Amino acid sequence: MITFLNLKKVNAQYENELKEAAARVIDSGWYILGQEVKEFEQEFADYCGVKHCIGVSNGLDALKLILKAYGYGPGDEIIVPSNTYIASILAISEVGATPILVEPNFNTYNINPSQIEKFITKNTKAILVVHLYGRSVDIDTIQKIADRYHLKVIEDSAQAQGAIYKGRKTGSLGDAAGFSFYPGKNLGALGDAGAVTTNDSKLANDIYTLRNYGSHKKYENIYKGYNHRLDEMQAAFLRVKLKYLDKENQVRREIAKEYLTSINNPLITLPSVSKHMLENVWHVFVIRTAERDRLQSYLTNQDIQTVIHYPKPPHLQEAYKEMNSKKYPISEQMHKELLSLPLSPVQSKVDTKKIIEVVNHFR
Ligand SMILES: *Cc1c(COP(=O)(O)O)cnc(C)c1O
Repeated sequence: MITFLNLKKVNAQYENELKEAAARVIDSGWYILGQEVKEFEQEFADYCGVKHCIGVSNGLDALKLILKAYGYGPGDEIIVPSNTYIASILAISEVGATPILVEPNFNTYNINPSQIEKFITKNTKAILVVHLYGRSVDIDTIQKIADRYHLKVIEDSAQAQGAIYKGRKTGSLGDAAGFSFYPGKNLGALGDAGAVTTNDSKLANDIYTLRNYGSHKKYENIYKGYNHRLDEMQAAFLRVKLKYLDKENQVRREIAKEYLTSINNPLITLPSVSKHMLENVWHVFVIRTAERDRLQSYLTNQDIQTVIHYPKPPHLQEAYKEMNSKKYPISEQMHKELLSLPLSPVQSKVDTKKIIEVVNHFR
């Protein structure tokens, strides 16, 4: 069986270093908000090219903390793509603001900048962009719209650690960004973890405080905060894995390039290739076909595991009953036609070749 993503194999590459990192934390006797978190925050801020990184509990909490720190709540509207992973939208709901869904572009799978403006009202506060599947959004166009209406731009970078837009890394493109280091992401911890990156020092200070009970110094609470901290063990693991992120992203790009040049089945549409293609980090490689379910069974029968990102759009989820009757046709079509092929930093050339062959034989 060619597995979609073999995490055991991914982490086995760094087994010794990860064990040393764990031992260092165990021996330190200090497990929450210590040296490892501090070092990781500095290293990841440098990596993204921003002033501040705040380590937090996970990606959803990272986004929630940004929205909370900006003071958004009931009555505020936040623009978000209709085809994102539901966590981006949950973060908006969690602070009591209203998510305003905007359809993606069929070629990039990212929010369609030309659709944004007509959804802006006097209550709109921010555009929450999502670099879906590892590909940066067209930030220049979006920033122009945001400037015109005085909106914040917040990045959901959960799927795009290391992706680049015109020389700048995701996480440094907007006012603030939320990252997830869920084990399956390009930069994955060995448990839950996340971060906020920003150049806004006031925002950073507020998030340092909010993640730790709203306390800026011990037993002094200035906000009704949370416990959304990153722990020392995960920070120590992330410091090991950050060193190899660019190398792993390069392997992903090479596999994507193989797929793009060698898959030639007329039933299948490949991801569009833009001049920014080399800067995509291919969190997942998503193809499109009207025969999606049949293709997936065919691949399963040939021992190739695939995944659907995602089977049901957020507005049709039971959790969002209030949106169930709204129409997002592009998003709905994508959710019927998309299929993700295996792609990971530990996928062998032989496996990639076999996947291409089998996909090309599908009729
Ligand atoms: C994974 C993911 C999240 C949530 O991250 P968690 O760490 O699982 O909370 C948010 N947005 C997107 C686009 C994601 O892929």
